[in-house]
Amino acid sequence: MATLRFMALKELLKRKPMYIEELGRATSEYYGKQVFDKPKMKKYLSKDAYEHVMEAINKGTRIDRKMADQIALGMKAWATENGATHYTHWFHPLTDATAEKHDAFIVTDSVSNGVVESFSGKLLVQQEPDASSLPSGGLRNTFEARGYTAWDVSSPAFIVGTTLCLPTIFISYTGEALDYKMPLLKALGAVDKAAVDVCQYFDKNVSKVSSNLGWEQEYFLVDEGLFMARPDLMLTERTLMGHSSSKDQQLEDHYFSSIPERVIAYMEDFEHESYLLGIPVKTRHNEVAPNQFEIAPIFEECNLANDHNQLIMDVMKRIARKHGFRILFHEKPFKGINGSGKHNNWSLSTDTGVNLLSPGKNPRTNMQFLTFLLNVMKAVYEHQDLLLGSILTASNMHRLGANEAPPSIISVFLGHELNRVLDELEETVPDKKMTPDEKTSIKLNIGKIPEILLDNTDRNRTSPFAFTGNRFEYRAVGSSANCASAMIVLNTIVAEQLKKFKSEVDGLIEKGVKKDEAILQTLKRYIKETKKIRFDGNGYSAEWVEEAARRGLYNISNAPEALHAYLTDKSKALFAANGVFEPKELEARVEVEMEKYTKKIQIESRVLGDIAINHIVPTGVKYMNTLITNVQGLKDVFGDTADFNELAGDRVDLIKKTSYHIKNIKNKVHEMVEARKVANKEEDAHKAAELYDKTVRPYLDDIRYHIDKLELIVDNEMWPLPKYRELLFAR
Ligand code: ADP
Ligand code: MG
Repeated sequence: MATLRFMALKELLKRKPMYIEELGRATSEYYGKQVFDKPKMKKYLSKDAYEHVMEAINKGTRIDRKMADQIALGMKAWATENGATHYTHWFHPLTDATAEKHDAFIVTDSVSNGVVESFSGKLLVQQEPDASSLPSGGLRNTFEARGYTAWDVSSPAFIVGTTLCLPTIFISYTGEALDYKMPLLKALGAVDKAAVDVCQYFDKNVSKVSSNLGWEQEYFLVDEGLFMARPDLMLTERTLMGHSSSKDQQLEDHYFSSIPERVIAYMEDFEHESYLLGIPVKTRHNEVAPNQFEIAPIFEECNLANDHNQLIMDVMKRIARKHGFRILFHEKPFKGINGSGKHNNWSLSTDTGVNLLSPGKNPRTNMQFLTFLLNVMKAVYEHQDLLLGSILTASNMHRLGANEAPPSIISVFLGHELNRVLDELEETVPDKKMTPDEKTSIKLNIGKIPEILLDNTDRNRTSPFAFTGNRFEYRAVGSSANCASAMIVLNTIVAEQLKKFKSEVDGLIEKGVKKDEAILQTLKRYIKETKKIRFDGNGYSAEWVEEAARRGLYNISNAPEALHAYLTDKSKALFAANGVFEPKELEARVEVEMEKYTKKIQIESRVLGDIAINHIVPTGVKYMNTLITNVQGLKDVFGDTADFNELAGDRVDLIKKTSYHIKNIKNKVHEMVEARKVANKEEDAHKAAELYDKTVRPYLDDIRYHIDKLELIVDNEMWPLPKYRELLFAR
């Protein structure tokens, strides 16, 4: 009997929801308890030190050494009072996870011959964690291969367990970024500056523009026992084989239905921990696929929101185990049913409290709204390839273009009313000087936007980049991704576009065109130039693929191909001009991504090889043997008669079928291994990724086909790996 599978199923019957006891208090009573936030800084820091930190947060000024010591002292006092014994620089290397190396607060004390707690400004501000095994894309191959972490003051420190965590950037000795945070901060700085400059046309009081991010995290839960019985889930987070369940999401009875008890207990637990960590989680529900769920917070400033997303993924993983679950952030853990994404809701807002992507109250603020809307659209149109490059990975590839997720064509959804507003603007704004009447009428029309928009932002779930009333929702981002990858690109391209806009409008003003007219004329041109990216229809349809091709839009669903977008002259110039990446950093980053791609396919291929040869083939052979015994028995009884042929015929067929699939599995695994050997010899990261993509990856589907066919034939009692129905419906 398939021992592990049935043991896991037996265990499952005993599982009970594990509600936590601490609940029963209002969230506001303990929210942020483990965060060194402003009120705590105020309490634990001297007035000078507090003001110094505030200035660093608000204006990006440097923390000086003397102040750093004071801040470290206050922080240590707070942390140790709250049970922390260790501290760590917490950072986002170019892997799929965050990194940390803990150090105890202790130093030896010669007076007592014991130890005392200590923490200095030097240790707070900068460290050299070595961390030389983290990917660097060749940036650390020289003898000066040191890597440094440096404190990101703008994201508050927090305590997890007994460790004080300091959000940091991770850079090489020569200053190149080795992480996601450093370029994100640079991109946010670039969009801040460019947007503030454009805001001056409308409001001179604006001195800072923040980028906001509200992520919606989708995920699957699988019972821990069943997970352990699936080598593919354990090692790749996705099922590499498994026939679809007779019932999965056809009835749409999971989506938004009542949350299963074991799951709600789990959610309450990790939400509780998230609140302690100051993560404002707000929404939870069942998603479309069975055992798929979603969590979304209230949006926050982009850098903080992203730290929170990375942190909560960690928390969710940890707490899941407490509840006998394993969490899957993989974009496509199960074939044939919906995968998981991480919608990135994004907007820009000013320090005067205005959401620049929200229609305003009068013609002036609405013109500002249209300006930002169209600049975003223009940026998206000009850099579609980069947006795709920022989200396509080995795992997200399974999802995009798979008729359940946004297609691998970038388009912008605006909704009927907003389309009408733009069409009207295009028609009514003249190319030459406006008459006073024209001016009045156009302003009047622009003034009307809010009324019509608020009620009319229709939804289109098939759009990868949708305007949803007061923000854009970038839906193509994968559930396992670090949002920074997408946010670096989005904020940089918008920064670049806003700078262009400013210089174009200023150019017209210099030529004597009035400011408002210069803006309107430029917007009119953008409306024309961005038509190709506007699409409100069904993004999943075959017609759209054809239509997009006619429009000349990119359609890339392959990660190695998409990554090349970072290396075009246009992209290199874009990132350099905005101070986000030097060409060398881009090349290193792409190399890291290529290697990641190769390794992921390599691991999947090895795991599937093991499952096929060591689990499935022996099972198939065993089953075949029982059939053979049966046929032989029938022959003993009936001899070589017509009765025998009549009775044993179907079993002989089954033997042939089973044998056919076994033979194919073995042959194809052999071929796949040979293909791997060839690809492994390739030293160039780009070529290796391509080889893996073209010559190894196809075997994953080929082999799976035969395994899944066998699953339909072989005795259920013998089948070693938990089946889809068990993985998807046990909870
Ligand atoms: P949906 O209807 O798309 O599921 P939700 O209401 O669940 O959306 O919100 C999705 C996310 O969008 C939340 O994190 C929310 O805070 C965020 N959000 C709302 N307004 C904005 C905004 N102006 N900028 C950025 N994110 C926003
Ligand atoms: Mg949404």
